[in-house]
Amino acid sequence: MKKIPSVTKAKNIQSVRGMHDILPVDYPLWEKATKSFREVIEFYNFTQMATPVLESVELYVRTLGETSDVVEKEMYTIKTKGGDQLAMRPEGTAGVARAYIEHGMSHQPHPVRLAYFGPFFRHDKPQAGRLRQFHQAGFEIFSSENDPLYDAQTMLAAYRFIEGLKIKGVTAHINTIGCRICRPNYRKALVAYYKPLEKKLCGDCRRRLPVNPMRLLDCKVPTCQPFKEQAPTTLDHLCAICKTHFTELLEYLEDVKLPYSLNHFLVRGLDYYTKTVFEFILDPVAGEEDLAFALGGGGRYDYLVETLGGKPTPAVGAALGIERLLEVMKRRNLNVPARTKERVFLIHIGDLAKKKSLSLIEMLREGGVNVIESLGKESMAAQLRNADKYQVPFALIFGQKEAYEESVIIRDMKTGAQETVPLLKLVAAIKKRFTSQ
Ligand code: AMP
Repeated sequence: MKKIPSVTKAKNIQSVRGMHDILPVDYPLWEKATKSFREVIEFYNFTQMATPVLESVELYVRTLGETSDVVEKEMYTIKTKGGDQLAMRPEGTAGVARAYIEHGMSHQPHPVRLAYFGPFFRHDKPQAGRLRQFHQAGFEIFSSENDPLYDAQTMLAAYRFIEGLKIKGVTAHINTIGCRICRPNYRKALVAYYKPLEKKLCGDCRRRLPVNPMRLLDCKVPTCQPFKEQAPTTLDHLCAICKTHFTELLEYLEDVKLPYSLNHFLVRGLDYYTKTVFEFILDPVAGEEDLAFALGGGGRYDYLVETLGGKPTPAVGAALGIERLLEVMKRRNLNVPARTKERVFLIHIGDLAKKKSLSLIEMLREGGVNVIESLGKESMAAQLRNADKYQVPFALIFGQKEAYEESVIIRDMKTGAQETVPLLKLVAAIKKRFTSQ
């Protein structure tokens, strides 16, 4: 006898590790984030743009640097059938700078202020606040002068965005990492300091010392911490121009009361940064230890445009991590109130009413009344249950009799009071009820 194959239960397909769905319940928070973003870009005169998710690997190798964590370990790369090496964008600045050159934006009146909002990808170990697909809102200013005013304004735009989400107690941790002139001296001083300690350093630090000694300053390994404390700081090695730039920036921040704190260990690990670097971090509060991550960060990148073949262009930018901001909002119950839109629920009974319901909904839409329905359901009880779930103040009952007579019953869901209204007067009658509520 032929064996009947057993029916095995299909395994459910899950979302990819570190990449999350944004569920309807969280969308009001996302809308709040996009609203705050829009308000900031309008006020500070940024224009929004978007770059593709896929860019050439070369773009990131050349700008972020081969020894950066992002390029070395975290990029999702793809080899196309044609043999091109592409990367799923791990950050926004390099792509925006590429587009700035490619589309001749250097010929526009400066400063050119560009903003973006979208998904980014890093193959990092997923953990609290660290995803493999995450979203950033970014602000970039390309200017003709190397003016600390723009550093301050970029930081302000980012800070106002956070403030727009009602997140309080945020400080900008700030440092300067110098320029082409003074940074080599600083690197030399760092190597000279760390060289005798080499044997005591962690593996990553030992490897980084000859290639990128500044990265030793953001090492998190506990045994390396005491060495960091004693390490030379950039401030003692800055050239006169970088020193003035930093001092003026701090003055601007004081003028606009943007809370900041000097952090000599902040280096931000990407090659393109020069002078100013900063990160926005929540002030420590008991119970929020797990939110001690950077909500956003950025800095000046004066050589990036020329690294990509454009003419030398001073520039500065900031990017904020949307998921991290939303995590803070959720933890602090800064939830957006449920939709306040005034809506009615349409209940239909019988075939004729069902048939006429679609055009009735359109009539309400044109009149500016929001409607929810469950037209697929036949039973009145099931529809009423749905109306209850949506917590609408009024239901419209559209039965066989009403469909013939071109009328609808308006039911007050709280009191149960009902009134029959001619279809032609329905919109006005609903609006009157909403205004007198
Ligand atoms: P970065 O330029 O790497 O400092 O990124 C800017 C901001 O994006 C960070 O301060 C975070 O808020 C956010 N971010 C960066 N990487 C991730 C990630 N893997 N998961 C979630 N958010 C991230």
